[in-house]
Amino acid sequence: MDKSSLRSGLSTQNLDSSNPHLGVEFELMLDNLYGKLELKKVTPKLLLPDPVLIKSGHKTIWKNPDDFLKLFNRNFTDLSNYINNETTNKVYWITDSSADGCIFDNKTKKDYLFELMKKYITERILCKSCKSIDTVIDRNQELRKYNFRCNNCNNEYII
Ligand SMILES: [Zn+2]
Repeated sequence: MDKSSLRSGLSTQNLDSSNPHLGVEFELMLDNLYGKLELKKVTPKLLLPDPVLIKSGHKTIWKNPDDFLKLFNRNFTDLSNYINNETTNKVYWITDSSADGCIFDNKTKKDYLFELMKKYITERILCKSCKSIDTVIDRNQELRKYNFRCNNCNNEYII
């Protein structure tokens, strides 16, 4: 299955979910970006997977970060590093398999998580040149940063 059919499959799935407006919200944000750059056609509709959150005392379990990570071709370490460095939230693996989900050490709501995902997408997934999400990052050990590469326009830079 190629990536575009995977994405459209997920979009359809999400349209049927209980929170279709959340996907639409992100679409609007992308439209703003595309509007400025007139690059509307690069990425088709992008709907975020609905996060499943479960309260556990003062903590919150995010059951399905994998849905999000697989869609964007990122690993959980990158996402958890981002959350732990850029926010006051701390997030940890539950086991050594991302399929088991992760846990926030505070009460975390869905809206907050959506905002977080949007920021993460803007900063670590969207290509700054063409706004494609078909991008990869690799750790650059020397610089202790990441090489960012876009498969759509072949742009490369350090983040
Ligand atoms: Zn690009």
